[in-house]
Amino acid sequence: MPNYGTPELEFRHGQGCYLFSSKGERYLDFAMGIAVNSLGHCHPDLVTAITHQANTLWHTSNLYRITRSERLAGKLASVTFADHVFFCNSGAEAVECGFKLIRRFHYSQKSKRNRIISMTDSFHGRTLATIAASKNPLHCDGFLVGDGGFDQAVFGDLDSLRQTITEHTAGIVIEPVQGEGGIRVVDSEYLKGVKDLCQQHDLILMFDEVQCGVGRTGSLYAYQQLGVTPDVLASAKGLGGGFPVGACLATEKLAKTLTAGSHGSTFGGNPLAMSVANAVLDTLMAPGFMTELAENGVYFKEQLQQLAAAHPELIIAVSGIGMMLGLQCKIDNIELIARLQGANMLVVRGGGNSIRLFPPLNVSRSELDEALTILSDVLSNW
Ligand code: PLP
Repeated sequence: MPNYGTPELEFRHGQGCYLFSSKGERYLDFAMGIAVNSLGHCHPDLVTAITHQANTLWHTSNLYRITRSERLAGKLASVTFADHVFFCNSGAEAVECGFKLIRRFHYSQKSKRNRIISMTDSFHGRTLATIAASKNPLHCDGFLVGDGGFDQAVFGDLDSLRQTITEHTAGIVIEPVQGEGGIRVVDSEYLKGVKDLCQQHDLILMFDEVQCGVGRTGSLYAYQQLGVTPDVLASAKGLGGGFPVGACLATEKLAKTLTAGSHGSTFGGNPLAMSVANAVLDTLMAPGFMTELAENGVYFKEQLQQLAAAHPELIIAVSGIGMMLGLQCKIDNIELIARLQGANMLVVRGGGNSIRLFPPLNVSRSELDEALTILSDVLSNW
């Protein structure tokens, strides 16, 4: 179908920070499959994990016990707010599970509240509920019946949120760092205000960390450095390091409403996905990994800020944290992406005329410096 356009560039293999095209050209990959290949391409530990699992057992279904999923859920629970985890196969599915938990919780309380408040410029996926949440006409037109049960408040504006809450509101969904919207980190004071409103009105707070989670911002989940804990969190993308896997993390209070048979997924939590996700998490939780990541993130952002300061006529600002950084452009972002691609560097387009940079979490200083050199050359020759 024509929904992806007709891209020409094709890659044959990848190694670490690099992709190699069908024409044999090497590209520095700071797109990483849109923040998916968290440990770069073909990380040896992930290759070992998936190869071993591929030779052992691929799929059984949740009709049978899958201890690898219990192990991964246990690890996630031990390092986050969550008491329970539901595994699925994509970000949108993880978000959908969160929406269902919000509604199911109020249903279990015999309350009629079922509406969810989302934020302007948000992105939560392409399923019917997730497009209804984001309300982006490009994604919604012709697809929706009614409003799907979502209201919208202005991202970062507490008064707007206060005015949007009604007696029907069941919960609030926020990306702690907006990704598609253009790498916008939520203000932690605002987030504390959101949490207070949730407590005052008995609302469920959900974070969509599909893009900003799994180490991307320098902590395992972004909320851990923003000082506000959700009741439910959607995770995916980087969790499988390139293998499709999603997870919905929740507190006991919410999770217990998902009684046997009330929700499910044929492929969710399958042994192949779980083997890779366990290996990703083990790598991220290894001593020193997060510290180095955070330090590299600070270094890269500072260098980008210097670059932006040297080209004020081209770049307005640098945004983001960790390895989730954005350049807010004065020049056309699509043209910048094309020129970077011409210089063999891959980045991703973001909202608000920005570009998004997603180095792998284990990127080296020399690879960051290589990216800075390419960016500097492209900007200097504008
Ligand atoms: N939520 C956020 C914040 C995302 O960035 C995305 C994808 O970009 C999704 C949800 C949807 O994830 P998926 O494309 O895996 O369904």
